Amino acid sequence: MSEDSLNSLQKTTITNCEQEPIHIIGKAQAHGVIIICDVTTLDILQCSENVEEILGFSLEEILKKNIDMILPEDLMKTLVRKLKDNITLLPKTIRLNNKEFFIIPHLSGESLILDFDPHGGSLDPLVYQEQLTKILNEIGDKQTIPEISQNAVELVKYLFDYDRVMMYQFDEEWNGKVVAEVKESHLESWLGLHYPASDIPKQARQIFLKQGVRIIADVNYKPAAIFPELSPINGKPIDISKSELRAVSPIHIEYLQNMGVGASLTAAIVLNGELWGLLACHHYSPKFINYNQRQSCKFLTQVFSNKLALRTSNVFIEKMAYSEDIRKKLVLQMSSIKHLNDAICKFEPNFTNIVECSGGALVLDGTICMVGKTPTEEQIKFLLSEFLVKQEESLFFTKNLMKKIPAATSFKDKASGVLSIRIGENKNDYLLWFRPQAIESVSWGGKPVKSGVVKDGVEYLSPRRSFEKWTEKKSGAAIPWEEYDFEAAYNLEESITNIIVRNQKDHIKALNDQLLEANKELETFSYSVSHDLRAPLRGIDGYARILRDYCKNKTDDYGRNAINTIINSAELMDTLIEDIISYSKVGQTRIQPVSLSINTILDQILTTHNLSGEYPKTEIIVQEDIPRIVADRRMFSQLLANLVGNALKYSAKTAHPTVELGFNVKDGRTVYFVKDNGIGIDAAGKEKIFEVFSRVAGDDFAGSGVGLAIAKKIIEKHNGALWLDSKLNEGSTFYFSIPEDL
Ligand code: ADP
Repeated sequence: MSEDSLNSLQKTTITNCEQEPIHIIGKAQAHGVIIICDVTTLDILQCSENVEEILGFSLEEILKKNIDMILPEDLMKTLVRKLKDNITLLPKTIRLNNKEFFIIPHLSGESLILDFDPHGGSLDPLVYQEQLTKILNEIGDKQTIPEISQNAVELVKYLFDYDRVMMYQFDEEWNGKVVAEVKESHLESWLGLHYPASDIPKQARQIFLKQGVRIIADVNYKPAAIFPELSPINGKPIDISKSELRAVSPIHIEYLQNMGVGASLTAAIVLNGELWGLLACHHYSPKFINYNQRQSCKFLTQVFSNKLALRTSNVFIEKMAYSEDIRKKLVLQMSSIKHLNDAICKFEPNFTNIVECSGGALVLDGTICMVGKTPTEEQIKFLLSEFLVKQEESLFFTKNLMKKIPAATSFKDKASGVLSIRIGENKNDYLLWFRPQAIESVSWGGKPVKSGVVKDGVEYLSPRRSFEKWTEKKSGAAIPWEEYDFEAAYNLEESITNIIVRNQKDHIKALNDQLLEANKELETFSYSVSHDLRAPLRGIDGYARILRDYCKNKTDDYGRNAINTIINSAELMDTLIEDIISYSKVGQTRIQPVSLSINTILDQILTTHNLSGEYPKTEIIVQEDIPRIVADRRMFSQLLANLVGNALKYSAKTAHPTVELGFNVKDGRTVYFVKDNGIGIDAAGKEKIFEVFSRVAGDDFAGSGVGLAIAKKIIEKHNGALWLDSKLNEGSTFYFSIPEDL
């Protein structure tokens, strides 16, 4: 494929630089050959054009032939068997054209890709083994991450002797920083320099994640195109991103050339599945290390990554142990100090000590308690109302608040970094931690801009040419929040929420106790008042009756009616007082449970109150053998009298009044019921009828509105339940049930 067709395939412009299709660059590096076969027939479909120069076969000779014309019989057998049984293919050595090669196989879709990679001088297995042992022994003696990194680059320099070996660590925006370096003495040091993210674009980082180690043996090589360019299987460019010999992006080559680099070796450092950094080796003339050595390098980066993971988790554990210690002290303070604000803001330690920060604020029940260096109260209120309350997640963090709220620029020296978490059930309570902007002097390895080359009106990618040191003062962002900060915030939030909930429970319990006390007092009061009212009422009633007899013939109808109204009102008032007394009595009396026969009680009610005489039209059906109940005799007689009385009263005016008394068993519980086909109660009425003096039936029916309140109280005293089913104009059924083990 010509350079022009490569350009047309890539069509990469400065605006889509992240999309440069480097995984399908259809070329091989000059030092080896890529052969691509059909995985089922093993016929050679494509091959890099340098095959004749390196393996001694011309393109015409091998294309469309079977790979067995190149591979010896025993190797062919193993290959066919492994492909059939789906077993991982391993590299093998082979002698061809008087040279030793590694054949490195892998699969890409329907194709088998074979890299013929120079053996590069024999490496004694003992030396190889020694290398691996050295790596295992030496990486990881050190403790801090910069120390381990320095250790690794020194070892790589010793093993492979590149002119410059660097450990390059990415930040969260994918800019890289040289964190360790070892170099030939005449070279200028790059330690501490930063490189912009665009130097290693996204797709290059993805390839590093896949492939691990990548060598460019000669930066000035002439790449060998793969012929034919497109796969005969599907007519598409083939993905050779896993090939050891894949040619590199021309942009990257130009980048290295601009730096004066002659050869490079790069290995990915992967931490928790993400690219943490790169081990980058530069040589200032061509340099090749063979497959085994590259595997040693890969092994080294894996050992390094493990050590890194261990160190990172140790840091996490240390930080967590510290914040846990503070959290426990805060919990103690919260348990012994009455007000939460005081407990976590006013004493040592306070809540800001749990993470590294310059200040914080507790927002609780509308008050803001500030600790350390913080924005003003007004600014915090603004941050809450304009931003934090609108966040869906309970935890929010940023290292650069100004990017989210431009107005936050005015307090960037107090709170560029914000970590916040909601506390309790109330969505307006928060814990906030602040970090000021960190002013950092960043030395870039060249000005971090990518310049484009304009051709035919399209701006094409072109790498940086200048690597002159360029220092920039960076501000606006705070030191980023870490996973252990979030964990500490979550844990403290949980403790505070628990304490708030516990305090709320205590508060509710205290209120309840007060209410019970008040209720008791009220019951006693209403009992004595009602009792005291009865004496004068008897007087009124008695004298009204005497007056009625005395005036029998001395007054007219008007006078007689007036006297009768006094007597009726006094009677009504007496019933009311009677009801109030019964209601208060239920509250004050302790229950004395005995075994009761509901059938007997119902008989008594119906005969003593002559209810069947009063309601002659009503059919009263009492189910036989209603189970006995263990309850207070007086109270249950009253309960049943009230329910039965209501059923008879509120059904009396229907055409065929029927009242049914019985039971059923539901979920092993005996449920008693009193059913009528009377006026029924609507939904709104159902809500009210159990309250004292609450009536919904209207003046057609006499009553005080206390009967059901008494019934409810009796059932509550027995820890039971009272409920109803009712439909307006169709009738009502009242159910009750109490626990058997009273
Ligand atoms: P009242 O002395 O008014 O009957 P209750 O406390 O016994 O007082 O009942 C409260 C209200 O509930 C009644 O005024 C009535 O509106 C309604 N009610 C009670 N029982 C029935 C029922 N069986 N059918 C229809 N309404 C009822």
